[in-house]
Amino acid sequence: MIRETVAVGLLQCNCTVLGDEGSREAVVIDPGYEIPRVLGLLEKHQLTVRQIVVTHAHIDHIAGAHMLQQHTGAPILYNQADLPLVAMMEVQAGWFGLTVPTVRPPDHSPADGERVAVGGIEAQVLHTPGHTEGSLCLHLPAESLLIAGDTLFAGGVGRTDLPGGSHRRLIASIRERLLPLPDETLVVPGHGPVTTIGVERAENPFLA
Ligand SMILES: [Zn+2]
Repeated sequence: MIRETVAVGLLQCNCTVLGDEGSREAVVIDPGYEIPRVLGLLEKHQLTVRQIVVTHAHIDHIAGAHMLQQHTGAPILYNQADLPLVAMMEVQAGWFGLTVPTVRPPDHSPADGERVAVGGIEAQVLHTPGHTEGSLCLHLPAESLLIAGDTLFAGGVGRTDLPGGSHRRLIASIRERLLPLPDETLVVPGHGPVTTIGVERAENPFLA
């Protein structure tokens, strides 16, 4: 599997491209900004986007999804529990002084445990509310990979002071859904460096 993760936009959201080497099909996760750069990565690997997945509807993760869809025709998946945040896009833009992006309701709102399959790539959706009501992670067991959004960071956890946030639910989501994953699982968080489940279970001060 091809994996490219790039930090995009003012808030440096990690946008990840996962590509199947056989079928040349891809899923793009959190195309917040810098869509020309993301399209360049797809072109470099000769990949066709079949799915766009957004881990949660904060502006830095979702702002570019509509533009990427216009270029690729791929459906956009995110949890409809985050629609109140979509309705607040102008407010969100105001928090950071950003332009208000076009954000539409999801083409599909995946259920907890739902399988997302593109080419030979298979991921499972884990609903992990806390950072936002609709926050989700993508787990790829065959790749020992977790795309964690803003739920879990290297040495940190997502902020919960924004609307829809709950620290208690965030910690419960991490403990119940993420920490049981195998130690060697590579975690690609929504911002900052990668880590592993084993390291976070042993060392993350928010989970002590
Ligand atoms: Zn966020």
